[in-house]
Formats: sequence, structure tokens, C-alpha cells
Amino acid sequence: MFEKLLIANRGEIALRVIRACREMGIKSVAVHSTADADAMHVRLADESVCIGPASSTDSYLNKAAIISACEISGAQAVHPGYGFLSENAAFAQALDDHGITFIGPNAQHIRIMGDKITAKETAKELGIPVVPGSDGGVPDLETALKVGTTIGYPVIIKATAGGGGRGMKVARNPEEMEISFRTARSEAKAAFGNDEVYIEKYLQKPRHIEIQVFGDGKGNAVHLGERDCSLQRRHQKVFEEAPGPVITPQLRAEIGDVCAKAVAKINYIGAGTIEFLYEDGKFYFIEMNTRLQVEHPVTEFIYGVDLVREQIRVAAGLPMSFRQDELEVSGHAIEVRINAEKLPNFTPSPGRVKTFHAPGGLGVRMDSALYGGYSIPPYYDSLIGKLIVHGRDRPEALSRLRRALSELVVDGIETTIPLFTALLNEPDIQTGDYNIHWLEKWLEAQFSRDGR
Ligand code: ADP
Repeated sequence: MFEKLLIANRGEIALRVIRACREMGIKSVAVHSTADADAMHVRLADESVCIGPASSTDSYLNKAAIISACEISGAQAVHPGYGFLSENAAFAQALDDHGITFIGPNAQHIRIMGDKITAKETAKELGIPVVPGSDGGVPDLETALKVGTTIGYPVIIKATAGGGGRGMKVARNPEEMEISFRTARSEAKAAFGNDEVYIEKYLQKPRHIEIQVFGDGKGNAVHLGERDCSLQRRHQKVFEEAPGPVITPQLRAEIGDVCAKAVAKINYIGAGTIEFLYEDGKFYFIEMNTRLQVEHPVTEFIYGVDLVREQIRVAAGLPMSFRQDELEVSGHAIEVRINAEKLPNFTPSPGRVKTFHAPGGLGVRMDSALYGGYSIPPYYDSLIGKLIVHGRDRPEALSRLRRALSELVVDGIETTIPLFTALLNEPDIQTGDYNIHWLEKWLEAQFSRDGR
């Protein structure tokens, strides 16, 4: 096992990894920008190294600085968390070249799944159902119009290099295709430095269902069921739950089996998530994330496993500590993402946190790097915490969430906490009757009712 591990990340996910290290008897090394010198992950780790100025390009995304930090501290492995360099094949390769273990899949798998067209083709070859769409990249408007006619409108134009919900445009008819195709390409170019796009059938009322998979890199793999992440704003998840309200044990076993077999076949190592849209009883692959997800705690709650510990174990060459037939769903878990944002427009609200009080009690987990007196820097993602609850069933999880939200105090800045308190009063949320468009529509309705 590693003696020392470096965490190439910040915020709550850095804490998550430090906690796993401590339980495993591994020394942890935090890295930080100058703006994060007072951050909780720096305080909690055994050691810390400053890797650059505030801008993440010069710090958390600075591969050379992170590798130097490994060399200075003697860290034998790097956990990338999510975001930043977690899906950067060149980084995984560079660590490998320096004899440092990357806690994640190999560079080749990251590369395949990072290019959405190759990912989709690979998924298809591995027997995973995909969304009907263009055969690879769409080079010009003429081809785009042909694809539109073949698969039928509406369609969605997506960036090959896409991520974070950016660079997607819907076209409802050939007239819209012209403008949507151009905009999608220029947005893709601006956001990812690559203007290649592809086209998919636009599903009207799907749910976002993703399957957690885990492999040992030696041809063994399991699935840990699904998470329903349909409550999204601008294609970004805000509320996630497991099990999915509409997924039966039989459906879970079927799609889970397909996914586990697919990753076993490629000798995948570590945690991965295969994302699907689910509509009318059918699953359609959209992408695979080759890292730990923000919403992994809901899976940890219902399966009683520690996914980060497991990632570290297999990276160190140990076998997985669970078999498929030992993995059983117990109860229901929900996560809400708390952002430093001002409602109703979700404008960033960084600044000094006067008071922070985390809820507690049975079945409550708060993953957050906040503390009273901490100043949230304006340079990074606005996620400041995740509140996760577990109950024997969905109604119990919902009432526990309501109770926990009422105990949570974050004073001094604006947060998205009131959004969740309001959502819990909605009959559709109580019954689980929602799809990927529900939240946007609801926000719009709230918005006009309030006359803003
Ligand atoms: P990203 O990598 O940017 O997160 P994804 O491919 O994972 O992009 O899609 C993110 C979200 O966009 C999905 O959860 C869904 O809400 C929406 N979306 C993507 N593809 C489609 C599609 N074919 N039809 C309808 N909605 C889609």
C-alpha cells in the first residue's frame, strides 16, 4: 500500500480523499493555490505544498507543478478528485512516466471516453445501447441537415470534446439547424478549443440515469446500481438520488450487468460512471466518466461501501473488496448540491462565511470544506457542500432531508439551500415524478410568479 498520497484537488472532494487516507493509515499531501492557503483541505492534510497563483490554469491544472509537489513530498500516488485533471489523459501518462501512480483508469481509457464520438462507438461495440444519431463527427451544415432528415427532429448538437453541460444546442427543424449548428460549433471552439460536433436524437422527456461501475484492471468488474440525476439546471445536476424512483430491481440487474461486462472486457481499473438517458423503458448511452463523481455518496450510502478506499486499493494492486453477489441495495439516499449562489438567477456569491453549522444525526452526511470565518475565493467552482441523507425508504430519506436542511446554517453568503427547501414541498418531487426538464420548467414558473 502507498505510504503517502497527494490530492490534486481542493474543496470538499480533497477532504473526502484525505479522510479515506487517514482511515487507511496513508499520509496525505494537499496542494493549494495562493488563494487557498487558508482552505480546509490544507489544514486537514498531513502536509501541503503551494503549487501556484489563484488562477486554476496556473495551479490546480498545472501538471508540472503537481508532479514537482509529488517529488518534493515523496508522494507515491495522486488522487485527482473530480474536475481539474481527473480526466486528463496526458496527466495520467505524465505521472506514469515519473513512476507515480494515478488513482484512476489508464491514459488510454481516459482518452477513449474523453472523446465523445469514440466513446459512443466503443460503447456500441461493447453492447451498450446508444442514442440514435450521426455516424461520428458532422463536418458541415449540409451533412447536419441530412442527419436531421434521417433521424428526425428535434435533434441535439453536441461537442465531441464536451463536458460540464456546455456546447449543446437543440434544433427543432431544418431552419433552426442552421443557427444551432453554427452556434454549437463556435461555443465548442471557445470552450474546448475543438469545434467538432456530432448530432443525436433529442429525447423529449428522459430521465438521467447513470450506472456506477468498478473494475480491478484484471478483467473483473462489478456495478453498484444507478443514480437518478434528472434534476438539472443548464444540464448540470443539482439533486441526485439512488436507487432511481422508476428503476426496478430487474432493470437494474439487466443494465448493470451490461455495463459491468463492458468494463470488464476492456480491463478497466477503478471507478467509472456510464451515463444514460432513460425513456419509455429504454436506456440510451450518452457518455462515460472515468473518475469519481460528485454524487458518489448516494451510492456509498445504499451499498455501504467506501468508493475512494476502493479506488486506492485497486490502484495499489489489491483485489476489489466486494463481489457482485455481495452488493445489495439498502434503503434510499438523496444528495443536494449546495452552491454559493444567489437565487433566483444563480449568480455566484463568494465571500466570508460568518457561521457554518452542519446538520447531524442518523443517516446524515455533510461533505463540505466550509468553516466559520472562511472566505470563499471567487476563482473556483461555486459548490460549497453536499448534504447527503439516507433512510430506510424514499419517504424517510425525504423527511430526513427536510429535517437536515432545517439544521444547516451558512451565514454571510447567499446559497442554494432555499431552493431545496422549496423543492421538497413539490408533489412531483415527493412522488419522484420528474425528468431532465422538470427543474428548468419549475424555476421558470417560480420566476414569473414572483414577477421578477
Ligand atoms: P456533458 O458531458 O456536457 O455533461 P452529457 O452528454 O453528459 O454532456 O449530457 C448532459 C445532459 O444534457 C444530460 O444529462 C441531458 O440532460 C442533456 N442531454 C444530452 N444528450 C441529450 C439528448 N440526446 N436528448 C436530450 N437531452 C440530452
